[in-house]
Amino acid sequence: MKSDIDICRDTLLSPIEDIAKQAGVQPQELTPQGSLKAKIKPAILNRLADQAEGKLVVVTAITPTPLGEGKTVTTIGLAQGLAKIDRSVMACIRQPSMGPVFGVKGGAAGGGYSQVAPMDKLNLHLTGDIHAVTAAHNLAAAAIDARLYHESRLGYDLFSEKTGLPALRIDINNITWKRVMDHNDRALRMITIGQNEPDKTINGLERHDGFDITAASELMAILALSDDLHDMRKRIGRIVVAYDLDGNPVTAEDLQVAGAMTVTLCDAIEPTLMQTLEGVPTLIHAGPFANIAHGNSSIIADKIALKLSDFTITEGGFGSDMGFEKACNIKAQQAKRGPDCAVVVATLRGLKANSGLYDLRPGQALPDGIFAEDHNALVAGFENLKWHISNAARYGVPVVVAINRFPQDTDEELAQLQAMIKAESFETFVDVAISEAFGKGGDGAIKLAECVVTACQHKANFTPLYQLNQPLEEKIMAVAEVGYGASHVELSEVAQQQLVKFKELGFDELAICMAKTPLSISTDPSIKGAPKGFTVPVRELKLCAGAGFIYALCGNVMTMPGLPEKPAYMNLDIDENGNIIGLS
Ligand code: ADP
Ligand code: MG
Repeated sequence: MKSDIDICRDTLLSPIEDIAKQAGVQPQELTPQGSLKAKIKPAILNRLADQAEGKLVVVTAITPTPLGEGKTVTTIGLAQGLAKIDRSVMACIRQPSMGPVFGVKGGAAGGGYSQVAPMDKLNLHLTGDIHAVTAAHNLAAAAIDARLYHESRLGYDLFSEKTGLPALRIDINNITWKRVMDHNDRALRMITIGQNEPDKTINGLERHDGFDITAASELMAILALSDDLHDMRKRIGRIVVAYDLDGNPVTAEDLQVAGAMTVTLCDAIEPTLMQTLEGVPTLIHAGPFANIAHGNSSIIADKIALKLSDFTITEGGFGSDMGFEKACNIKAQQAKRGPDCAVVVATLRGLKANSGLYDLRPGQALPDGIFAEDHNALVAGFENLKWHISNAARYGVPVVVAINRFPQDTDEELAQLQAMIKAESFETFVDVAISEAFGKGGDGAIKLAECVVTACQHKANFTPLYQLNQPLEEKIMAVAEVGYGASHVELSEVAQQQLVKFKELGFDELAICMAKTPLSISTDPSIKGAPKGFTVPVRELKLCAGAGFIYALCGNVMTMPGLPEKPAYMNLDIDENGNIIGLS
């Protein structure tokens, strides 16, 4: 089979204006960015206010291997399959981060004959939204250090007298807003800024700082969760960037930088319209990771797609304990709209990786055995799929399992897996289809599309795991104990103190965003399958008042990833004609 980039390059794409017209977007609602991508003005929602919404389908997965089990392939393939059976459909996905593109996983445009096109544009800069988030985020970081510097240089009274501004008296040891960039770079996790010659301060005040990846920025979450530009402006104003010397929060509003941050994001709030290889309109918007952020594309993009089409297919990152949990408890509660159906992607390799029969070490190459026939491993790994089906069912939605077929998969094992699913009973409607969307595009996902149409006819009784007005610790326990099946939560001393502080400051009604490894349902990446009786250690809490949640950092999850020994960027180059090669 041809490489992803060759398949993409050899496909004749339609002008984006034609795709927009087909989706029902009017010319004045579109700002083309070249011939194959266009921004859509959120004002389209005013015109469509009285239009009924279609069905919202969230694609999730089993506990993945680091290679990914094919959610984006399935999201795009399912959208193409629905189009093949004459349903009006749109897909909504996140903009890929350059961290994974150059790191372990590679691109996130889907693959084979189920891709968003042009995949090189999608995977690299697209319309610059991620860069805009980086710029807006770092503007606030610069504002903090500038204010610290000037208030310290002049003294608080003189500063106020000279500028007419109140002195913020930022505590240099209590600044919570780091810097961000869209790369994996472990060397930037802990840095010292403001270094000076002895007895000088011209370079600012020296302090410890660090970088997160842009996908983990609170601003990225805000972009994905805002209703509109005004809502985004208010949320940015609420961001707590530091505490003052008395322990009171200092916000982006206090720094008077929230307006400029919003201005920097004015174009980024508009989703980008692209197309799949088969011409299905697809919205790309925001890019929060599901392990260190809330892992779902934007509420604005979903709303537009729901108004324009009968089926909106979107993806929550990693397994159902990650992006799907956050789609239900964070995104759906803020959007006041839950999913109508969950599609759980399973692969034979992913289930074998979850069998416990192979030695899988984080950061090491996957063992060959998981790619070959192994009935015992499949049976053992099936426990993980059962867990994820039940987990999706917990939210009251019908579930369709999409078995994503890889070239090495045998008919016998695929049939065995289908039979195992059908032999189980679950507390919701469950169906299963084999998806060959990677190799055959929409034609390979017709059966899956038909199952999803049927599943969506079953009324969903969507119920999140917790209500926002429950106390913070109860919400953490709900996700860990009810959501993951842990036996208990262990809050570190730091986390306990933060909990008390956030309550005092009136942040008790925020949602919880768990930051943990995606490679296990537990917080330990080496524990596979469907673990029970484990503890969820919460190391630290992080307030995201603008996004509307509190992060619970569990285990050693890193908010700035590192590069592996042999990163994906080594495959990338240009050929003699200037075409990109090696991007997948
Ligand atoms: P996820 O969204 O779940 O992380 P992706 O859809 O990005 O996963 O797929 C992960 C990787 O596996 C991509 O490189 C993709 O092209 C590849 N892939 C997915 N499904 C298949 C398949 N059925 N056959 C071959 N390669 C596949
Ligand atoms: Mg994906």
